[in-house]
Amino acid sequence: ENNKEIDYYFDSYSHFGIHEEMLKDNIRTMSYKDAILKNPHLFKDKVVMDVGCGTGILSLFAAKAGARVVIGVECSDIITHAKKIVEENGYSDVIKLVHAKIEDIKELPMGIKKVDVIISEWMGYCLFYESMVNSVIYARDKWLVEGGIIMPDKSTLYISAMEDSGFKKYKIDFWDDILGFKMKCIQKLTYLEPLVDKVDPESIISNSTLLKTIDLMTVSVEEINFSKSFILTAQKDGNIDAFATFFTYSFNFCHKPIYISTSPDSYYTHWKQTVFYLEKTLSVYRGDVVKGIFTLKQNKNNFRDLDITVRYTFDSENENTNHFQEYRLR
Ligand code: SAH
Repeated sequence: ENNKEIDYYFDSYSHFGIHEEMLKDNIRTMSYKDAILKNPHLFKDKVVMDVGCGTGILSLFAAKAGARVVIGVECSDIITHAKKIVEENGYSDVIKLVHAKIEDIKELPMGIKKVDVIISEWMGYCLFYESMVNSVIYARDKWLVEGGIIMPDKSTLYISAMEDSGFKKYKIDFWDDILGFKMKCIQKLTYLEPLVDKVDPESIISNSTLLKTIDLMTVSVEEINFSKSFILTAQKDGNIDAFATFFTYSFNFCHKPIYISTSPDSYYTHWKQTVFYLEKTLSVYRGDVVKGIFTLKQNKNNFRDLDITVRYTFDSENENTNHFQEYRLR
């Protein structure tokens, strides 16, 4: 029923530009390289499935680490390049590429029934955007052998409060007057769309707190839709103009676990952070507490989009705020 959206989604991965961006994200790509190549004991003579192999980079790591067979599954046309890349590097005997949606595969190449290891880079903006995690869960339930492993295996979404005084001017007031014309209808939308951007760590004015943690070995698709209350404490005086989310992911089956954070004070990644602007700016003093409830749901019409709501309450001597805002990440 959402074929149009799905075609659009896979089409976006058929151009090499998006793969260039991911491959150049050194934090991202090196985390997989280290997790795989520094742990050959997890791959030696194993059958590996790469869910959404793209250019085939993770499949190549797995083959190099000694896998017996690597099945790279990819729905977009980038797979025609992946095939050449595998040949170019002399791994055609080990890496078998399948041009399909993982959900549509009826049988695996070479009569293989189950796989020992699933590798996948499925994380999106705000962790869950694109909802590719659904496909990893699907692959796990259908193809992973009892006792098999998934890499990475854990991931956690966090929220913190931030100050961004510039945004009102550049993102909101801007629409009041474009060379003498008003565009207020767009102004309203500014709040609806979270902004994916690099957040200056200096602008974070609270602690960060956990919204959702998932264990890929056990999580279900239903659990991806969640609601979580949170409490943030201001660590300095200032204004809260927005909430920012970021995530971590980790490879815990490694001999030495590998942990990557996309927080504002960690190294830059192409995921950056996701900023949710508030209609009501909260003016806080150090130690003040903001409470909230964050909900995230995959959209009913297009499950790749996310419907997010935040209720935030703040009581101080001067201010009693209890506000509810809706967002859509698409
Ligand atoms: N593994 C590559 C690409 C990661 S991007 C790398 O690390 O560089 C995710 C890829 O998964 C995209 O190319 C996308 O087209 C593919 N993908 C997403 N969902 C899929 C599904 N259900 N079936 C097959 N491929 C999928």
